[in-house]
Amino acid sequence: MCGIFAVTDNKDAARLAYVGLFTLQHRGQESAGIVTDDHGALLAHIGMGLVSEVFGNGSLEKLTGRNAIGHIRYSTTGSSHIKNAQPLVLNSCLGNVAVAHNGNITNADRIKARLQQDGAIFQSSSDSEVILHLAARHKGRNLEDTLAANLPKLAGAYAFLFMTPGKVIGARDPYGYRPLVLGRLGRSYILASETCAIEVAGGSVVRELEPGEMVVIGGGRIRFRRFAPAARFTRCIFEQVYFARPDSVVAGRSVQTARYETGARLAGELKDVKADLVSGVPDSGTVYALGYAKASGIPYQTAFMRNHYTGRSFIQPDQKLREFTAHLKLAPISDVIKGKTIVLIDDSLVRGTTSRKIVKNLKRAGAKKIIMAIASPAIVSPCYFGIDTPTKGELIANQLSLEKIRRFIGADALHYLSLESLVAACGEGRDRNFCVSCFTGKYMEKL
Ligand code: SF4
Repeated sequence: MCGIFAVTDNKDAARLAYVGLFTLQHRGQESAGIVTDDHGALLAHIGMGLVSEVFGNGSLEKLTGRNAIGHIRYSTTGSSHIKNAQPLVLNSCLGNVAVAHNGNITNADRIKARLQQDGAIFQSSSDSEVILHLAARHKGRNLEDTLAANLPKLAGAYAFLFMTPGKVIGARDPYGYRPLVLGRLGRSYILASETCAIEVAGGSVVRELEPGEMVVIGGGRIRFRRFAPAARFTRCIFEQVYFARPDSVVAGRSVQTARYETGARLAGELKDVKADLVSGVPDSGTVYALGYAKASGIPYQTAFMRNHYTGRSFIQPDQKLREFTAHLKLAPISDVIKGKTIVLIDDSLVRGTTSRKIVKNLKRAGAKKIIMAIASPAIVSPCYFGIDTPTKGELIANQLSLEKIRRFIGADALHYLSLESLVAACGEGRDRNFCVSCFTGKYMEKL
């Protein structure tokens, strides 16, 4: 999961890229970077940390130029290191090219090994660099032709932004796993992972790119080009479940609305449940809980106080701090929960360790019973398409039965939403098809 953003032909290109990346910060907190094109010179500022930490001390002012692309990283392939931070900038026989990538190229290792045998030297361990090396070896008349010839060699998931002097190119993989949306801001165009970034930057949404489609923006023109046959959309359903911001629109449906309806469908599947209140694990669980409350008639209550100041330091705390992490982040409100039977909703259950801590804290604070309701089906298989899910062995639903999971997390009851209900709430339809492989273990491509 990463976030990408591009803006063209705008005197405030770097500032708009900053706003876009700041809006997409929920998609990755490891590194941030912006590259601008100032009359053919690609200027870069890239660093480890949050967008607000990376771009201080006048760094934005130095990023002059009217085109910009930016990236925020959540590491999947490649270690957490500045050399893997993006956009990557390469000076090759194609000229200066910058690339920003969201996704995971499943055949990157094989391609890389072949290219290295032929003498290629990679500057990062990230899979994103592979396309530039491929392109450098199989040149077309221009970057756009070169990419159109080489992108079909990649397997897996990608939304790419490329920048070369005078031009910005966006491309989405032939299944459309990872999101890429086109927007307009006066004479400028915007490309972003989510609609919320386009709108916060002051633009309006035009449409999402189709699977296997490329957009080329330069010289005051925009052109669309297909580099792979139009396949059925296979958007990652986890955008709706967890990743995307509620004010974004995915597959023509507001994320907030989809989550609210998912909560209502969860209530429909748990018709016989009696409880005093329903609550969600903040932040994403809250909207599901509101939908559940409306549909079930059980009142919604805020059961936790979330500490918004814990920051990234709590993503990887030391061992002693880790013991306090769950409580520091989410403190139960005893007065609300004491003696109550609670339907507690979370978006998903991965390893089960966080739910176990949360349930324990609620019980310690006096909750009578916890009915854990998960707003998605059991995750039985890893994601190979750029989402950082654990291996099969670490996925609790792959290892234990429903009853054993319930006992592990310490809840009095446990229910997962059915896949049918999730897909229906996300807006099933002709153009609305989703990847659900981590729930089914069936993948579109041979891995
Ligand atoms: S396997 Fe799961 S997380 Fe990965 S793209 Fe498909 S739905 Fe998304």
